[in-house]
Amino acid sequence: MIEIDNTHYSYVFSKDNKPAAVCKSGDVVTFVTLDCYNGLIQNENDVHEELDTSNCNPATGPLYVEGAMPNDALKVTVLDIEVDDKGVMVNYPDCGTTLPNNKPRTKVFSIKDGKTMFNDIEIELVPMIGVIGTAPNDKDVPTGHVFENGGNMDSRLNKSGAAIYLPVNVEGALLSMGDLHASMGDGEMVGTGIEVAGKVKVQVEVIKNADLKWPITDAEGYWFINTCGKTCDEAIAAGYKEMHRLLVKNYGFDESDAAMYISLQGRLEASQACLSSEGGGNSFRIGTPKLKEKTLI
Ligand code: ZN
Repeated sequence: MIEIDNTHYSYVFSKDNKPAAVCKSGDVVTFVTLDCYNGLIQNENDVHEELDTSNCNPATGPLYVEGAMPNDALKVTVLDIEVDDKGVMVNYPDCGTTLPNNKPRTKVFSIKDGKTMFNDIEIELVPMIGVIGTAPNDKDVPTGHVFENGGNMDSRLNKSGAAIYLPVNVEGALLSMGDLHASMGDGEMVGTGIEVAGKVKVQVEVIKNADLKWPITDAEGYWFINTCGKTCDEAIAAGYKEMHRLLVKNYGFDESDAAMYISLQGRLEASQACLSSEGGGNSFRIGTPKLKEKTLI
């Protein structure tokens, strides 16, 4: 079994990152990941005044997948996510919606048997991957940002049991991931979930000529297109356009039927709606139900 340890990490998605490991399509690989602060926050006195998106979210990798070429997709099936027994959360009052008397605060959580306590409230944890993506072929993208190949999507549906289809732009795909959250709500209002180190076991497969413009998550009986934009409006419009394109291409609808079908059956969910454009923008999910007779990819 291939394992990439957490000494192999980067703060950018880049075609120039040297592969930490090489695998074949169909292989199972484990990524050992650091938390989004690289362990900098240890106790409740550690308060970060500002969210520095240029130097957060160390992503373990990259993994070079043999046979992956531009225009293919990399299907990443999440087999298991194991998180450490201690997680942290930092409240950034300036990050999301401004709320009265909301001050910076750090909380430390102990995690046991898939549960933790928020004050006296027990929370059932659903660990998820905050950052996952492949390398772009032009610019380098900070791992604090979300972009066309994934990155800091912060979708709570990128969890165990899900399959994430990532566009491939460079030979070998160069898959990296990190920024696990033991729990996170839609929108990630104050900029963090329960930030935690851990291990992700995935199966990677190359899907030839998938021609994806954005990552797609197969979870909970739906296909979700993951998009982003400087504003929430921009992110939503980009997702609808991609869903429309794929419904025309793969369901055989004409353009008007595709639009009407989205209006009837679509889902619209926020992944991360707390960041300014300087922080890498916001991310949304546009969903359509999975069908037996048709496939979106
Ligand atoms: Zn995070």
